[in-house]
Amino acid sequence: MGLLDGKKALITGARKGIGRGIALTLANEGADVGVNDIVDDEVSQRAAELISKRGVKGTFHAGDVSSVSGINAVIDSFLEEHGQIDILVNNAAISINGDIESFSEEDWDRIMASNAKGVFLGMKYAIPEMRNAGGGSIINISSVAGLVGNHISAAYSASKGAVRLLTKSTAIQYAKEGIRCNSVHPGTIETPMTADMLADQQYRQDRMERTPLGRLGTAQDVAYGVLYLASDESSFVTGSELVIDGGFSAQ
Ligand code: NAD
Repeated sequence: MGLLDGKKALITGARKGIGRGIALTLANEGADVGVNDIVDDEVSQRAAELISKRGVKGTFHAGDVSSVSGINAVIDSFLEEHGQIDILVNNAAISINGDIESFSEEDWDRIMASNAKGVFLGMKYAIPEMRNAGGGSIINISSVAGLVGNHISAAYSASKGAVRLLTKSTAIQYAKEGIRCNSVHPGTIETPMTADMLADQQYRQDRMERTPLGRLGTAQDVAYGVLYLASDESSFVTGSELVIDGGFSAQ
């Protein structure tokens, strides 16, 4: 018996990194899982295969969640395979570094499209399906950079701050329909997104020293938090922000 037996979960940007960790963890608890990513390759297909090996249904749905046609294709293909959406994890995002003066308008539009608009579109098109299913749980992956300022990228921070309040407003608007919506705020997690930055030993050491629990996070650390919010164990939780950062932002 798993916490998510019989539930159908769609995870965006789940080919690797945190999304992949979330997909496998939800599958371990009995959910059928659809993996989305903009990159469609062997790694993406393998993520779906690994899910199926856990005795649940694992599928891959290629598409760009920052465009209406992309998200609609993803949701249509997910519904064809799974019939309904109970859990949506809006995890897909990009990171572009730079201060305000060096940041180009094109990069601002790109980061806001992937990180903020993608979350809006995912919810916009999944909510009617959740209503049909009698309710659901939406988990939006923000960041500690969505809670406090970030000296590496103001635009990334702005996009993640947008996710935080988009989440709270959605929670209020859809609570009466049994649709919950929460955000998750990871600290520094070792994934392909942070690999280049963490290859700099000084940066790595600095992040660990500034983290009270004294280590970097893993995709699994984040996935357990998402599991709680996805499950009925969190049925009284909506509009909340779950910080998973080793105490980094508590200081
Ligand atoms: P990652 O780069 O390893 O994985 C992100 C995945 O999303 C990639 O596979 C990418 O192809 C996909 N993607 C990007 N844009 C997409 C789009 N428009 N449509 C579909 N797929 C798209 O990143 P990660 O570190 O695993 O991060 C996952 C989430 O966690 C992101 O929302 C990120 O902002 C957030 N986060 C990460 C950290 C960290 O330290 N790694 C910290 C805080 C928050």
